[in-house]
Amino acid sequence: MNLLQAYRRRLALAETGALQRLLADLRAQGITDERVLAAMDKVFRPDFVDDAFKNRAFENTALPIGHAQTISQPLVVALMTQQLIKGRKPQKVLEIGTGSGYQTAVLAELVPIVYTVERIKALSEQARQRLAALGYRNIHFGYSDGSQGWLPYAPYDGILVAAGADNIPEGLLKQLAPGGRLIIPVGGQSVQMLKSVERRGAGFYEEDLGRVSFVPLLGGRV
Ligand code: SAH
Repeated sequence: MNLLQAYRRRLALAETGALQRLLADLRAQGITDERVLAAMDKVFRPDFVDDAFKNRAFENTALPIGHAQTISQPLVVALMTQQLIKGRKPQKVLEIGTGSGYQTAVLAELVPIVYTVERIKALSEQARQRLAALGYRNIHFGYSDGSQGWLPYAPYDGILVAAGADNIPEGLLKQLAPGGRLIIPVGGQSVQMLKSVERRGAGFYEEDLGRVSFVPLLGGRV
């Protein structure tokens, strides 16, 4: 964090207390991993939305980021991250759907190497510039269709999908390292079940984490 960021952050906190309220809300809703709470405290969400939404950035809601996409709800970011690192210290993770780069930053606070792919060029570029300006050096960006993962750097200790899929893509399971987890919303257009699939020996162990609402996982690049 540079001095200007630190200053803006203090100002926002002094003015509203909104970040403290958000963190309290996350705790109340089941986010208990202090590593996750510390990362959510550190990554300044107003940096990831347009000016028009900065005053709403500490609300526990998704917000528009253009291109018909949204920055994920903080609770969902925290929940996915918590499940990804539960009982683990992943060294290398893949995020599919960079979007604003907010979730990417939260992951980069907790994991030594983060790979992230985005199919919309403008969003990928914006996130790359934004995260570089914020000082992150452990993120590798890909402008690509991640619906079957990102093969060149596989396997990953964790894969987090930030868009709703019709089913669990086989390609993603194949790119999980032993003990690694895939966190993915699966289901319809507007509501999905957030699933966690862990690679255990020769098999996979699946868990449902609750209902969520993500934009759809689409193929191709634009
Ligand atoms: N966690 C992000 C969520 C962004 S919304 C944030 O908080 O900002 C989901 C993103 O997934 C969108 O930017 C969308 O373009 C992207 N996406 C959808 N399908 C994809 C695919 N097949 N490959 C890569 N990115 C995809």
